[in-house]
Amino acid sequence: MADRISTPSRTREIIEANGFYFKKNFGQNFLIDSNILDNIADSACVSKEDCILEIGPGIGSLTQVLAERAGQVVAVEIDSNLIPILKQTLGEYENIEILNQDILKTDIDAIIREKNGNRPIKVVANLPYYITTPILMDLLENERKVDTITVMVQKEVAERMQAQPKDKEYGALSVAVQYYCDAHMDMIVQPSCFMPRPKVASAVITLKVLSERKIAVKDEKLFFHLVKCAFGQRRKTLLNCLFNQGNFGFSKEELGEILHSLEWDERIRGEALSIYDFARLTDAIWERQQNI
Ligand code: SAM
Repeated sequence: MADRISTPSRTREIIEANGFYFKKNFGQNFLIDSNILDNIADSACVSKEDCILEIGPGIGSLTQVLAERAGQVVAVEIDSNLIPILKQTLGEYENIEILNQDILKTDIDAIIREKNGNRPIKVVANLPYYITTPILMDLLENERKVDTITVMVQKEVAERMQAQPKDKEYGALSVAVQYYCDAHMDMIVQPSCFMPRPKVASAVITLKVLSERKIAVKDEKLFFHLVKCAFGQRRKTLLNCLFNQGNFGFSKEELGEILHSLEWDERIRGEALSIYDFARLTDAIWERQQNI
């Protein structure tokens, strides 16, 4: 096993030798605690059978640990200043491919097809926090062929993914994660484990993407449209949100009738609905649209 990139002294040495400056706007907080890196790889159950997609390898601290356990690692890094550094730090590993790209513009399906014969991959990352939600929503809503997603995120965001109706953090991300996945909080990580230190605590969470949905809905697009409407104006009642933003072509009275048919009070708010309630609402609106 090669020397770890992730020790504080080695990380500092690599950064100084290359005249690298951390870019806040790229969410660059590098991990400098080897135990945490091992724990992330353990949480993702990485084995030689796996093809891993890593988002944002930085100087390669997590990439190294993943490459020692996985069959293959594809790491997508936006910052071109890090590419020559990664070539040095990870040069001895033949099972790593580094792509200098923005993950939000990367053809992830092509990576899965070309690097893993279209079999599901695992996503493992210490995510750039400024784009946590778009990255996760892209993977889930587009139903990329992903088996598990093990990611470091802000602790508050990890809590949001597991939040339940009426919790302060409950929102569209909670519904999407709970609709597509089983989520497991792996560990809380303190700011002292990063260089530079972030202002808030972080957490590693694993999302097991389900091959079959927990609930069946008549129209998945409608389901997520309702979720976005319901949380779009949190202070308004569900009825007002649906009427103002839903574009269903129903009058307010008709929407009220749909809520009554579900035995809900007209003053109910979106944040009170579980994923099962959103599914019932979806089917009720869909049936009304079809005149059933
Ligand atoms: N994996 C490294 C570690 O754990 O030390 C670095 C993690 S750091 C939190 C996030 C990394 O994501 C940085 O290297 C940053 O440059 C990269 N990044 C930021 N935005 C990105 C994007 N849109 N696409 C790909 N990488 C991105």
